[in-house]
This record gives sequence, structure tokens and C-alpha cells, in this order.
Amino acid sequence: MKKYLGIIGDPIEHSLSPIMHNAALEKQKLDYIYLPFQVTPDNLKDALKGFKALNIVGVNVTIPYKVAVMSYLDQISEEAALIGAINTIHLKDGKWIGYNTDGIGFLRSLREDGGTDPEGLRVLLFGAGGAARAVAVQLGLSKAKEIVIANRTRKRGEDLAKELGGKISTTSFRAVGFTPGELKEEMKKAQIIVNATPVGMKSITQKELPLKLEWFRPEHLVVELVYRPLKTPLLKMARSAGASILSGEGMLLYQGAEAYKIWTGMEPPIEVMRRAILDQLKK
Ligand code: NDP
Repeated sequence: MKKYLGIIGDPIEHSLSPIMHNAALEKQKLDYIYLPFQVTPDNLKDALKGFKALNIVGVNVTIPYKVAVMSYLDQISEEAALIGAINTIHLKDGKWIGYNTDGIGFLRSLREDGGTDPEGLRVLLFGAGGAARAVAVQLGLSKAKEIVIANRTRKRGEDLAKELGGKISTTSFRAVGFTPGELKEEMKKAQIIVNATPVGMKSITQKELPLKLEWFRPEHLVVELVYRPLKTPLLKMARSAGASILSGEGMLLYQGAEAYKIWTGMEPPIEVMRRAILDQLKK
């Protein structure tokens, strides 16, 4: 019997996940279809109930339900509990199990596309929202030496650093604000710089991330989470200073690949998925 996979969110029409997953399912000739579901907040609980009845066995969860969905699940993975959000659910033996593959997706992008293992390295992480939490937790679990959280709202960054510092003992966590003096100093110490804010998307200019060209060094690896556009102003600036760069499509790709493995038990064809995403992003 055909099985169904999907993604829930609101809005959902711009999601690249259906194209990416269906390309992989087709390549591997698996009898699944992946569908986008626009679900309004008052229908979230009923939607999950309906999924069970309809043999929808795996679902990605995106904005605004990554936290809200947690209260309807039977079990939550250790990583997802640490991150405090879910992006993948799997119906197994009649139970919904929640995972978060964003962090591992980020890590695979760093390792497989960036050739960098974060163990023992210092990271300057911009942002303290959901994506930054996933990145910080995964970097912590991977034994990064230090993670410095730079957030526009300093207090939020400080709260996150304190929380994760209390939960992950292998990494030290600190927070700084967006002041040029602090950022210049942190750029000197960091080996990996990650943007986990929406700055760089078409509507938000680079001015809102106060970094200067002369602070970048060729030893830096600069990682974007934004993937529309593929080459953000931050990546262009880093590249022109000779730094290595990674664009946000890598994390999108590998978080999807990890979800696919959970649902199907198969290693997906990564390059087929990557091509499907890039074809859309380059349009
Ligand atoms: P959240 O809304 O949870 O967090 C946003 C963060 O960005 C906050 O720290 C916020 O700071 C900061 N921020 C927002 N606007 C600005 C601004 N104008 N200037 C400076 N800082 C700003 O969003 P997410 O964490 O879910 O997503 C962040 C980005 O990561 C998005 O662009 C999203 O598309 C991308 N993403 C990419 C993924 C991928 O697979 N590549 C996966 C998940 C997310 P403050 O606390 O001050 O409000």
C-alpha cells in the first residue's frame, strides 16, 4: 500500500521539501508520496489525528508549529528535547515520535561540504531563535570548544548561553551583544562564524548584522542558514576576504536527508536531493 509523507506549516507553499523528498523517493523507486499540508493553528491537533487515520507515516514540521507540536507526541528524542523543538515526526507502531534533524543537518553540512569537524573549535553564532538553538545544541554535543552567541537582543542570547551551559558540559557558552567592539574581538578568536538570523534574506539588509570586511580572515569558515538568496551579502563579504563559505542549502538538504532515513530506513540519494533544491533556488 502506498505510504504518505508530508510537511505541515502555515504558510507552506514556498517549502522546497516536497520537491527534494519526491526526487529522492522517485530515484529509489519507493512507494511513498510527500505532500505539503497547510494547517491553521486551530486545526493542528485534528490534523495529527487525521494523519494517523490516513497512513501518513512521516511529517516534517515547520514554522509556526516546531514547538506547539511537541505536546501531541508520544515520545521525543534526546536531541529534540535539548533543542526544545521538533522538525520531524514519525508514526511508528501507532505512536508519534518527535525528532529534530536541523542540528544534525547543520553538522553534516559542516563536515561533508565544509570539511570541518567542530570539535575543539571556537564558534561565533549570530542569533538566539529556533535555528540558533538547534545549531548551538549540535555544536555542543559535537564538543566545540566555545560557542559565543551574538544576538540583537542581548538578554535573549545570554539566557540561551546560560541554559545550554547548564545542560551541555563539554562546551563553554557565552553571549555578546551587537556592539562593534565586542564583535571585532570575537571575530579574532572564532574559527567558525554562523548566521542563524534572517539577515541576508531579500527583505533584511546586511546592515543589521554589523560586521566589517577587515574582520574576516582566510582561516574563517563562514556558514549561512539563509538560502534565499544562495549567496548572501555576508557570504560575498567573507569570500572577498578569502574566507571559506557554506550557504544555507546544505543544512536544508541534510536535515531532509536525516528525516528521510528515519521514515524509510534508507540512505537517500544526496546529490539527487541537492540538485532538486538548487534547480529551484537558481530559478
Ligand atoms: P527565529 O524567528 O526563531 O529567530 C530569529 C533570530 O534572528 C533571533 O535571534 C532574532 O533576534 C534574529 N533577528 C531577526 N531579525 C533580525 C534583524 N533584522 N537583525 C538582526 N537580528 C535579527 O527564526 P529561526 O531561528 O527559525 O530562523 C532564522 C533563520 O534561519 C531564517 O532565515 C530561516 O529561514 C533560517 N533557517 C534555515 C534553515 C536551513 O535549513 N538552512 C533551517 C532553519 C532556519 P532577536 O532575538 O533580537 O529578535
